[in-house]
Amino acid sequence: MTKCVIVTGGAGYIGSHACKALRAAGYEPVTFDNLSTGWEDAVKFGPFEKGDLLDRARLDEVFAKYNPVAVMHFAAFSQVGESMKDPAKYWRNNVIGSLTLIEAAVAAGCMNFVFSSTCATYGDQDNVVLDEESVQLPINSYGASKRAIEDILENFEQAFGLNSVIFRYFNVAGGDPEAEVGEFHQPETHLIPLMLDAIAGKRDALTIFGTDYVTPDGTCIRDYVHVCDLVDAHVLGLKWLEDGKGSRVFNLGTGKGFSVREVIDHSRAVTNMEVPYVEGDRRPGDCTKLVSGSERAIKELGWSPDRSNLTEMIGDAWKWHQTGHYEK
Ligand code: UDP
Repeated sequence: MTKCVIVTGGAGYIGSHACKALRAAGYEPVTFDNLSTGWEDAVKFGPFEKGDLLDRARLDEVFAKYNPVAVMHFAAFSQVGESMKDPAKYWRNNVIGSLTLIEAAVAAGCMNFVFSSTCATYGDQDNVVLDEESVQLPINSYGASKRAIEDILENFEQAFGLNSVIFRYFNVAGGDPEAEVGEFHQPETHLIPLMLDAIAGKRDALTIFGTDYVTPDGTCIRDYVHVCDLVDAHVLGLKWLEDGKGSRVFNLGTGKGFSVREVIDHSRAVTNMEVPYVEGDRRPGDCTKLVSGSERAIKELGWSPDRSNLTEMIGDAWKWHQTGHYEK
């Protein structure tokens, strides 16, 4: 019988790519999503169960129906800027919602949990390469909410033996090379899709958020990872748990950082079009530099982030941008 995996946020950007990867690996991905930011059109690789993380009865129903071997938990609000303005939204949905999901999983006897956390849990640690042992000092409510969920998972392991693989993502970019699914947020806040929209004339010039950071060109540095590499790591993490290897935290990044200006330069080269941009103020909550120490996932999971170069990430995002869209 095909093994089911509950994928919360399966109608979203990363979750939909994870469903495709799970399906390819022989699992049945069951999307659990309230469609607050996701797209029903993105649910293409397994069943859809509409529901909200805060609705325990609905969660219990779905666990009982599918008897999943694991949960992959992507559903979350994830905008740093918004989290600074509306922290309650982040604590309620991300933390209380995850707690409800974790309780439901344990009650159903589903003891394998793959969680999407973030490098934002590390905070602003000037010019340090961040590995899994680095201290976590989030500087925004989004990062704080994700760190709290990591703590909940640790406590549930101590109390009930819940096994979790926690992935701390750096900047996820790119899309399915076949453009079946892709990145489409409403509203969009991420650098690469905003830039592609600006290139295509679909919105005004990109604003560079801050040019006075202490970096070689004054703009923030991020470590970009291809969404297909990222979800491959999730399948490896799932197998790690199924093999009984126990709870573990892994960073998912490449160890190489690129500034906003470097991303703009690559986009110009990939699309062969000019990137209209203006220089603006810093965005509250942004860290100067976030670069992953990514050895652990490579060594222990056997992960190979081969597609995580800017040319491929921007190229695949551009392909999706030209062909793909979802309708509400
Ligand atoms: N950024 C920017 N202009 C934008 C959006 C983002 O200059 O319109 C910068 C942002 O300050 C950060 C980088 O691009 O340094 C990546 O931001 P994004 O929102 O894509 O991801 P985050 O790092 O916040 O997770």
